Amino acid sequence: MSAEKTPIPLGSNFIRAIVEHDLADNKFASKKWAGSPGDAAHQAKGQIDPAKIRTRFPPEPNGYLHIGHAKSIFLNFGLARDYAGVCHLRFDDTNPEKESQEYVDSISDAVQWLGFNWANGQENNLYFASNYFDFMYRAAESLIENGHAFVDSQTADEMRETRGTLTEPGKNSPWRNRSVAENLQLFREMRDGKHADGSLILRAKIDMTSPNINLRDPAIYRVRRAHHHNTGDTWCIYPMYTFAHPIEDALEQITHSICTLEFEDQRPFYDWLLERLAEAGLLAHPLPKQYEFARLNLTYVVLSKRKLIDLVEQKHVSGWDDPRLPTLAGARRRGYVPEGFKLFTDRIGVSKADSWIEYTILEDCMREVLNDAAERRIAVLDPIKLVIDNYPANQVEDCFAPNHPLKPELGKRVVPLTRECWIEAEDFMETPSKGFFRLTPDGMVRLRYGYVVKCTGFEKDAAGKVTVVHCDYLPDTKSGTPGADAIKVKGNIHWVSAQHAYAAEIRLYDRLFKEAHPGSGDRDYLNDLNPDSVKTITAQLEPSLKDAKPEDRFQFERHGYFVADRKDNVAGKPVFNRTVTLRDAWQK
Ligand code: ATP
Ligand code: MG
Repeated sequence: MSAEKTPIPLGSNFIRAIVEHDLADNKFASKKWAGSPGDAAHQAKGQIDPAKIRTRFPPEPNGYLHIGHAKSIFLNFGLARDYAGVCHLRFDDTNPEKESQEYVDSISDAVQWLGFNWANGQENNLYFASNYFDFMYRAAESLIENGHAFVDSQTADEMRETRGTLTEPGKNSPWRNRSVAENLQLFREMRDGKHADGSLILRAKIDMTSPNINLRDPAIYRVRRAHHHNTGDTWCIYPMYTFAHPIEDALEQITHSICTLEFEDQRPFYDWLLERLAEAGLLAHPLPKQYEFARLNLTYVVLSKRKLIDLVEQKHVSGWDDPRLPTLAGARRRGYVPEGFKLFTDRIGVSKADSWIEYTILEDCMREVLNDAAERRIAVLDPIKLVIDNYPANQVEDCFAPNHPLKPELGKRVVPLTRECWIEAEDFMETPSKGFFRLTPDGMVRLRYGYVVKCTGFEKDAAGKVTVVHCDYLPDTKSGTPGADAIKVKGNIHWVSAQHAYAAEIRLYDRLFKEAHPGSGDRDYLNDLNPDSVKTITAQLEPSLKDAKPEDRFQFERHGYFVADRKDNVAGKPVFNRTVTLRDAWQK
């Protein structure tokens, strides 16, 4: 993933190099902008575009955004921010079938959550491709009038058969030489609902012998009776994606249209189409240019809206924002942070070669950001009782725990110590293994921020599980007092006062898939689901955590980073999700 980006300085990439080159050449110096998208006549009425570049993030509102989209968002919005440009949020909603308002809303939320905004002063650059249907229709008629498109009456099967292969040219359709008048009439009849779905199709007339199959008279408009979420039943013909997308870019005066590698072979058609429409006077130069980069592939997750829809609809997860899902809504609920995504996208870079990125790289980025940002708190996840038998029964004593070891300015908080505490079950071993330095039947350990204690005994339940550990404390050894160092102990364990702790629901998440490449080979990716991807426990938390607000983040010492759930929030009794474990296991 890093080999191909060596010659380019950190934070840079080949797309930035292209933008810098274009700006140095004043390539867009004459480009006009009338304040809104539109054709050549509309833009000619505007001023020189104050935005030095225009990019766009063009999701289809047919699902929730995922971590792969974050890469595209940081790239497109990041370019606009760094080069005095503007990035549009464009809903690519030209396909009437699978689109909905819920998806539109969730996508806007996710982009804003990552820290980006599409407004630029008075201008709100939030667009819907379906608002360009009128222009797209006009563009199609213009192609027909100039002999660049024809209505084909072949069936889908016939078209497939005559398309040729990578090694053999295709064959011209028998309908390719229809007159302009006949094509226009048929196309208008298609629009007016006079032809059945799939009976006629409008195709560009380019070259059936082209080595690029995408130039062999590609389909550009089809008959499809479907209700559209924005335009309702106004249209019964819809443009194909490859026809619509370049036009959307051009109407919005996009300078750099950045997409993933699978569109590389479409670029000649992108250029061909915009050139034809410019010749016809519908669009003005400079026209947008398409650039491709490698999509993000991440191990242990699936980044495809279709698969994510399956996981949600078949109830393998609790919803689109299930913290195990790689959706941005899920990542947010899991406790992942926008700054972590920024670090991640900077670190993986932008290249033209497909590769797989290890999920641990993303986790490391989240840890790095959270290590700096999150205050420390104490939580006992698998509690057993510790009774300090020589400690006065009604005494409550303040111990002081730093909120952040690297940021003394964040101060300390009080953690109350009492005779009975909760400690982790794993911090006591009846028969210690080699190198175990925590509590043992005759051992000593420091209660972190408190005293050194010496074990005096323990109790077990019927099943043989230790439930209570007894100890005495050494009164002169309190942390922060002169006597603290008098007795050296190797272990240091965390605890919470049983009288003050509150029992909270905690969800421990693991990977949703147990395989690095879910569904590789001929396996069904659903067979690779990890059956133990979430575990809900009741933990004992220090009292200050009761005040946590939804989305407050903490490091629970020794356990990892946790976030107060933003959804299942009970005031005064937050539920926590584990975001990610600590890099290193507890030092024994
Ligand atoms: P999916 O295959 O998951 O349905 P998509 O590409 O169809 O994704 P769009 O809504 O069309 O989803 O994507 C919006 C933008 O996000 C596009 O410009 C696309 O190139 C980009 N994008 C989608 N997936 C990734 C990815 N894995 N890595 C980088 N960019 C991506
Ligand atoms: Mg798509």
